[in-house]
Order: sequence, then C-alpha cells, then structure tokens
Amino acid sequence: MITRSELSVQSRAQISTQTISDFGCWQTQLAGAITSPEQLLAMLQLSPGLLSPALKACQEFPLRVPHAYIQRMVPGNPDDPLLRQVLPVGEECQHIEGYGLDPLAEQSQNPTDGVIHKYHGRLLLIVGGACAVNCRFCFRRHFPYQDNRLDQDSWHNAIEYIRSDTSIKEVILSGGDPLANNDRRLANIAAELNAIDHVATLRIHTRLPVVIPDRVTDELINWFARQRLQPVMVIHANHANEIDDRVREAMFRLKQAGVTLLNQAVLLKGVNDSASALIQLGEALFKAGVLPYYLHLLDPVHGAAHFDVPDVTATRLIQEVMAHCPGYLVPRLVREIPGRPGKTWIL
Ligand code: SF4
Repeated sequence: MITRSELSVQSRAQISTQTISDFGCWQTQLAGAITSPEQLLAMLQLSPGLLSPALKACQEFPLRVPHAYIQRMVPGNPDDPLLRQVLPVGEECQHIEGYGLDPLAEQSQNPTDGVIHKYHGRLLLIVGGACAVNCRFCFRRHFPYQDNRLDQDSWHNAIEYIRSDTSIKEVILSGGDPLANNDRRLANIAAELNAIDHVATLRIHTRLPVVIPDRVTDELINWFARQRLQPVMVIHANHANEIDDRVREAMFRLKQAGVTLLNQAVLLKGVNDSASALIQLGEALFKAGVLPYYLHLLDPVHGAAHFDVPDVTATRLIQEVMAHCPGYLVPRLVREIPGRPGKTWIL
C-alpha cells in the first residue's frame, strides 16, 4: 500500500516537471509570481468554489506566490499547509474584535522614516516593502510601506540615527523582504553600516531563501564572506514541506560563508498546530543547518484571526516537542506585546 508521504512526494512530482532553475533567475521568478487566484486554483486542480472568497480577500491583501513555492504543494489538497499560508480566504474579510491594522504599534516606534526602534541595542531598518510571497497571516499586511521609503534624505537620516546612538550594536534589515533588493543595493547598505564602529552585527530577516532558494546567488555569498559585520540570517519557514533540497543547498552555501542561520516560525492553525508538525519542522531545519529560534504566537492583525491557536494549546504543543526533541530543536514560544522591552517568553 502506498503511504501518505509517498503519495505526497508522488503528487508533488506531478507538478515538478519543471525544475526551479527552469523558472529562470530569482528576479525572473519574483516577477513571474502568481497573483491570480484563478490561475493558482487551476494549477493545483482545486475547486472553483474557492475562487469567489479568494477574489474578495485579495481586495484587501493581494495574492502573491512564486512557482518555486507552489511546486512544493500537493495538487488537489485544499488543506495543503503551504497553500493555506498563501491562499486568500473569506474569513479574512471578517472584522474580529481585538484584531487591528497595526497590531504591534510599530507606527509609534518609528523615530525616522525606515527605522523601527523597539528594543535596546538593536533596531530594524525597513529596506523596502516588496516580498516574494504574501503570507496571509503577516502582521505587516497593512504596514504603510509607502510612508517608509528610504529615499536619499530619509536614508541619510536613518544612517545618522544609527551613528548617533552608540548603544546600537545590531542592525536588522527587515521589510517586506530585504533580499528582494538586489545584491548591489544590499552591498551599498552594508558598506554604510560597516563604517559605523559600534555596529557589530548585521541581521537579515528574510523568507526569500525559503520561497525562492535561487535568491542565494554567488554574489550574495561573496558579499556575506566579505563582511566586517557578523552576519546572521533569520529565515522564516513554518512547515517541514517548505524545506526541500534546493533550500538545503542554499542554507549550506550560506553556512559555508559564515552566516549564522536561525528560523522563526508562526504558530498557525491548520498549518503547523500539532506536535508532529513542529517536530518535523525542527528536524528539517536542523538537516538544513538551521536552528529553530522563535515560534511566534499570532499577532492580532486584521484578516488573520482564523490562524489563531490558543495560548493553552500552544504551551501544550511546545511541552510535547520538549518531550521528544533535544533542547536545541525546541523553539522559544513567544508573543510580541507592544511597549515591552523585548519579546515575551511564554515557554
Ligand atoms: S515574507 Fe515576511 S514580511 Fe513578507 S508577507 Fe510574508 S511574513 Fe510578511
């Protein structure tokens, strides 16, 4: 009898007649991302009944998903854990009390355009609003990126802000996805940060190497290898099926270049809300040379309430993971509470 995992591999293979590199370079893949729910449903042989709610939800937050990510979904399965992260659904349009547009009050911690300074010793530099994929649960799905563009003046102000505060040891490139910028722009950003003596660490929060592993180019690897700043990359994968051979290869190359690799995930109902899914995710990450870092409880952003997992369930799940895994494969369960000086550790 064929097992479920064999079936998954077989089904994925049906849609994988094209290899990732057949989709072209990473910029071509970014530009060619699927933005039409109709097209996505047809590619995955899913019911046309899903179309109408998807179109409605798209009016608030568009669909966006590259072929290289779709390739890892199982055709015919509306509950595929990767599909659930990207397919707009009707529940997104419901207004739920306690869910808002700026759940982490970031817009009040925005001392100058492009800078979010929440915690001691580190800050976020928003280096663009583009993403390779639009994750339906994203806490920045309503973030006003248009007001945080780093034009020449605001870039100068952001660098001066960092230069004038000697407590800032770490700069975190965020977005959007910072790796949606090309390698030359990243090199320019890093060169300015390199020139500030008190900045020691450059951290990049990115989902791109998971979504389009071809983003890890030779130029990017060389750039990391040349850094004075200690490079840390925090990737974002929520399910083991996201970590395929291409992702493992990309992670291996980053590791060879001296990049510390960590993962942050979000606990999502219907995606990874079981101990087995979290254990498999931790094991898949470790095989790729990445350590699980944070498991975030959902931020209460409008449109994402259907992904919520209650705290009591989350705590039980992490306890089950602790009972099965070595400590280094157990992510820290956290919640971000606006105004606190750091993430709040739940377990
Ligand atoms: S890649 Fe990150 S920033 Fe972009 S939509 Fe997904 S979670 Fe949000």
